[in-house]
Amino acid sequence: MSASFTPGPWRHASNAYGCQFVQHGDTGLICGGNNHDTLQEVNARLIAAAPDLYGALSYYAEQFCEFGASNEGCGKFSEDVCSGCKARAALAKATGA
Ligand SMILES: [Zn+2]
Repeated sequence: MSASFTPGPWRHASNAYGCQFVQHGDTGLICGGNNHDTLQEVNARLIAAAPDLYGALSYYAEQFCEFGASNEGCGKFSEDVCSGCKARAALAKATGA
C-alpha cells in the first residue's frame, strides 16, 4: 500500500498563545487550530504521529488474514476482525482507498 501524503516526520508545536500546530520540518504547516484546550493538543499530537503510525500499521497490513488469504471469513462469524484486516481497513480510511 502506498501513501501520497507529506512524508514524516511531523511534529506537534504550539505558539505563545497556545495555538496548536502540526508541522513538517520547521516551516511546513500540516494543520493547526486556534483553540487552546487540552483536547486539541492531544489531537494535534495524534496527527503528528500519523506518518509513524502509518508506517507501523503497514507491517500488519501485509500480514495474511487469520481466516485465510481470501479474507472472506474475517468478521463473518463474530464481530472480531483479525489485526491484519483491521490494519488494512485503517490504512484504506487514511488513504481514501
Ligand atoms: Zn482478517
